[in-house]
Amino acid sequence: TQQETLLEVNNIEVIYNHVILVLKGVSLKVPKGGITALLGGNGAGKTTTLKAVSNLLHSERGEVTKGSITYRGEDIAERDPAELVKRGVIQVMEGRHCFEHLTVEENLMTGAYTRRDRGSAVGEDLEKVYSYFPRLKERRRSQAGYTSGGEQQMLAVGRALMSKPETILLDEPSMGLAPQLVEEIFGIVKDLNEKEGVTFLLAEQNTNVALRFANYGYILESGRVVMDGPAADLRENPDVKEFYLGMS
Ligand code: ATP
Repeated sequence: TQQETLLEVNNIEVIYNHVILVLKGVSLKVPKGGITALLGGNGAGKTTTLKAVSNLLHSERGEVTKGSITYRGEDIAERDPAELVKRGVIQVMEGRHCFEHLTVEENLMTGAYTRRDRGSAVGEDLEKVYSYFPRLKERRRSQAGYTSGGEQQMLAVGRALMSKPETILLDEPSMGLAPQLVEEIFGIVKDLNEKEGVTFLLAEQNTNVALRFANYGYILESGRVVMDGPAADLRENPDVKEFYLGMS
């Protein structure tokens, strides 16, 4: 059965500082209810692609100079990131960016700021986030700046969940984490996808783990998609094995 496409990136070009061409015509589709992985090495253009979608390139002097980006068929290029959050699209940035001086729980509450249904519904959602991330519940009164890297990654995802997103753009969730924690985080992503129906587009350098948890993958090299396919096919592809899975 063909799933509805939520996000569609059509042949986009991104240029930094008016001269540095970084994305050279990237296209991809994110179906509702799936986990789509954007793979590739350092500097391939994964973060740039996510930032183009959530319109976060301006502060980095980047701009989309060609192509289009649609969500549910509507053009979303140049939409204010806060407006995108209201439409259900939220980005969890690489490096996590929590408010270090606030507690874990206060950080989670900041994720609910765009919602109109404050009050008891938010309290229920907080409990739901804690049910997926029991560690965050244990640490809820701790200052976020003193929690571990893994806990901060969980906090970043938990905070995004507080906006009740339909789609989460997740940048490099494995970055800097020990293998066991990476498994734990990806396991929770899979759970959120299956039980809550959250759609994910995740950028990841760790091809191995991403292809085990994703449904579909796109491989970027120097700003171009060089290969895409169902995750199970990519895992068995000889080139992917040789160049990305390190098990030729
Ligand atoms: P990483 O895993 O390192 O984040 P990536 O695949 O996400 O890699 P990008 O961060 O999108 O890659 O970077 C793609 C290219 O764009 C790199 O060559 C990078 O040096 C360049 N780039 C990124 N940000 C800027 C910027 N603000 N100005 C100029 N060039 C940039």
